[in-house]
Amino acid sequence: MTNSTNTFPSFPRIEIDLGKIYRNTKRLRKLFQSKGISMMGVTKGVLGSPQVAAAMTAAGADFLADSRIENIKKIRDAGIRNSLVLIRTPSMSNLEQVVKYADISFNSELEIIRMLSEEAKIQNKIHHILLMVDLGDLREGILPEDMAHTFRRLLTFDHIKPIGIGTNLGCVGAILPDQDKMDELSGIALALEKKFNLDFDLISGGNSANYPWVKKTERLGRINNLRIGEMIFTGRNTVDYERIDGLETDTSCLVTEVIELKQKDSLPRGTVSTDAFGDVPAFSDRGSIKRAILGIGRQDVLIQGLTPVADMEIIGSSSDHVIVDIKGTDVKVGDPIRFHLTYSGQLSAMASTYIEKVYLNANQTEKRINL
Ligand SMILES: *Cc1c(COP(=O)(O)O)cnc(C)c1O
Repeated sequence: MTNSTNTFPSFPRIEIDLGKIYRNTKRLRKLFQSKGISMMGVTKGVLGSPQVAAAMTAAGADFLADSRIENIKKIRDAGIRNSLVLIRTPSMSNLEQVVKYADISFNSELEIIRMLSEEAKIQNKIHHILLMVDLGDLREGILPEDMAHTFRRLLTFDHIKPIGIGTNLGCVGAILPDQDKMDELSGIALALEKKFNLDFDLISGGNSANYPWVKKTERLGRINNLRIGEMIFTGRNTVDYERIDGLETDTSCLVTEVIELKQKDSLPRGTVSTDAFGDVPAFSDRGSIKRAILGIGRQDVLIQGLTPVADMEIIGSSSDHVIVDIKGTDVKVGDPIRFHLTYSGQLSAMASTYIEKVYLNANQTEKRINL
């Protein structure tokens, strides 16, 4: 269409507030810096959005980190000047890109590290790696007892430079990064440094779940880095989901459009069978209600990640529809309906090709973001 104007917004859309992301990053970075801890701003929750990467960089994030090499490439190609870190171990199928686009990668497989070294040789580079150790969360990482011999082997690969170690807790096994775990990580780092006569640059203690520990610890040990994603976006402590003082919530918001609005029963009429997903749905009888259908569905967004901003309630969904009891709210067909997003909700909305991405308040980031 050639006659479209910007005055009529398109729906559904996710609005990402770069000003809030900038301020949250800045506040967290200041807190960590006062403790002697550098911060990686983790961009995977926004698919490596260059706008967000630029806002985090302007706010002082010491590194940018992402789990996907495609996202790292996107940030690199946008010309953002920061160190870029791949925080998921590289795949054999993408080593060429890893060496080309990432300054540092996190690793836990010796064979991959050997191949990274070969690739780095071809590209005439020294690739920096950080070795992950598994302290019991049982996701990625070398077991503590295998760290020394893995190190001895990788020191023979001449185009690899190990610059530190790290761990990730609070994800698959939901293990809390507490003082014991951080002491254990420090101990492993110190032992390796002593054994191999090294001085590591980075001992990366974890993610947003490390916040309670970092806030109250008086013993950092060798830990000098954290990788923070969710807390920047949600402004919440990811251990108990309480709001963090001084941080802003709702850095992003989903806006959808009402495509049907009718007074209908709250209970389906007829013989109950299975729904579009093979489940038998359960509804509560609240009599006749005003039901709004929104033009968004399960193929766009994780419905459990949505909470209406107004006093309404999501009562059902299918691939292309979300149904809301609008209660007493004044709504017409065509009206926008706004939702708070959880971190997973935000990630799913960012990944939907049907949802428009709209960036707000780029002018609140002090340095101009011009992408
Ligand atoms: C996703 C991820 C992070 C960031 O975690 P948040 O909970 O979003 O702060 C840090 N480290 C690794 C290895 C990750 O995969």
